[in-house]
Amino acid sequence: MSKTAAKSAKPGVFQFIDVPRRMPREVPVNVRVLGWNEIYGQFDAPAALEQSARCLDCGNPYCSWKCPVHNDIPNWLALVKEGRLFEAAELTHETNPLPEICGRVCPQDRLCEGACTINVGFEAVTIGAVEKYIVDEAFRQGWRPDLSRVVATGKRVAIIGAGPAGLSCADRLARAGIEAHVFDRYEEIGGLLTFGIPPFKLEKQVIATRRAVLEAMGVHFHLGVEIGRDRTLEQLLSGFDAVFAGTGAYRYVDAQLPGQALPGVVPALPFLVANGRQVLGTEAPERWPVAGWSQAVPSPDVRGKRVVVLGGGDTGMDCVRTAIRLGAAEVSCIYRRDEAAMPGSKREVKNAKDEGVRFLFNRQPLAIEGEGVATGVRVVETRAAASGSRSVGPEVVDGSEAVIAADIVILAFGFRPDPADWLIDEAGEHLSDRRLVVGQSGRLPFQTAQPKLFAGGDVVRGADLVVTAVADGRDAAASIVRFLGVVSPSP
Ligand SMILES: Cc1cc2nc3c(=O)[nH]c(=O)nc-3n(C[C@H](O)[C@H](O)[C@H](O)COP(=O)(O)OP(=O)(O)OC[C@H]3O[C@@H](n4cnc5c(N)ncnc54)[C@H](O)[C@@H]3O)c2cc1C
Ligand code: SF4
Repeated sequence: MSKTAAKSAKPGVFQFIDVPRRMPREVPVNVRVLGWNEIYGQFDAPAALEQSARCLDCGNPYCSWKCPVHNDIPNWLALVKEGRLFEAAELTHETNPLPEICGRVCPQDRLCEGACTINVGFEAVTIGAVEKYIVDEAFRQGWRPDLSRVVATGKRVAIIGAGPAGLSCADRLARAGIEAHVFDRYEEIGGLLTFGIPPFKLEKQVIATRRAVLEAMGVHFHLGVEIGRDRTLEQLLSGFDAVFAGTGAYRYVDAQLPGQALPGVVPALPFLVANGRQVLGTEAPERWPVAGWSQAVPSPDVRGKRVVVLGGGDTGMDCVRTAIRLGAAEVSCIYRRDEAAMPGSKREVKNAKDEGVRFLFNRQPLAIEGEGVATGVRVVETRAAASGSRSVGPEVVDGSEAVIAADIVILAFGFRPDPADWLIDEAGEHLSDRRLVVGQSGRLPFQTAQPKLFAGGDVVRGADLVVTAVADGRDAAASIVRFLGVVSPSP
């Protein structure tokens, strides 16, 4: 595929003036809250062409720079505009091993689309939706990554964790002729893509398709295998040429609110995972152990109940929208700052509002109230610090305490990495919050102090994004290829 050829056809450079930004059709609110399907439909070819043609090809692709995997966005938009779908699919995969997934779940307003040159005044090109279209449609028409010229090297690498970091690493190793063996303690691949992000943002069939693609590329999955319990890291290090750890961040951030041990209070992830399993049709555990939480938690029945979610990030938005679909009578989100300061995707906040979630901004939770069972959340109002500095935290408004009634309280304050001691000991270095340290003192990027052990994704960065985990897995694979002395055109 020639990028120059793709760029040469530039009819209607100013199309963005006449053609407004349009997302794919959105399922009406009253229908979508009755089920679990994704809320956006798919572009057809004319719509994808029309939206791609809004790209100005400005010559300064800030979108690409802002994208953590540095996708070659203007060029794949140009290919879509010319109807060269398979070449576009090939090009998306050059930088991104999981493009159809990032196209769905990236917070584009903070990344590629936020940096789009026409965003100011004309609204950004629908980059994420076109990325999703390219790969979904190419797969539907039978396109698959072409590994026909890959030469097997005889090298074998073990990957701990089938989340986006591990899957991305496996993809790049397979393309370099290295056998990738992915171990995961769960029964399905995907990590938080499967057991965290709800199906209305990412339908699980998308991950099943990607699994089939990776298996056809020669990636081996060993599911239901927990390293540290069923096999040791030492066994992997001695049995394989290198090991990549992409074990994620699962320690619950504990706000230590008085009353949080009351029945009716649940941390976010078990709530989402139990529901995800129910939708997948796999068994939902009745009680669920949570790292950093003192007791196993039950999956609550929220039907007809008042649900209050504490926390305004993407996990909080996933919880409120899940509770709506589960038939809660009333769903509120409490956040300690104002709306502009919310850390998650603006699109997800809008979706939650559209679906009937009530937002209580500038409220700091103080305690969970209740005798024997949670009945409410005691909050105090806040306002921005007089200094105006965000780092100082909001100020409390005297005399503003109140109780928000609740039957179920979901705590969504975020996650931290908590790698097992055996992983920390082998990796050699970690930060005070237990994030693994990689790439120090002349080592290869993503290489730990143990030369055969590499790591990336949330276990190194702390809880972050799918696309940053994908970038880490891809780049760690490049380091592994160098470490093993493999000569390969990719990754
Ligand atoms: C509820 C929720 C919603 C989110 N929504 C978004 C979103 O919309 N957009 C976005 O960009 N990001 C989102 N994120 C963040 C994103 O999901 C993570 O940043 C990303 O999944 C991290 O990828 P990872 O591969 O590092 O880890 P994970 O996805 O956590 O995968 C780690 C894998 O390692 C496995 N594992 C761990 N230890 C072992 C062991 N000892 N043996 C075997 N297997 C092991 C785990 O089972 C898991 O499958 C969300 C996170 C949460 C919690
Ligand atoms: S990977 Fe994410 S940030 Fe990059 S172009 Fe795709 S949607 Fe945008």
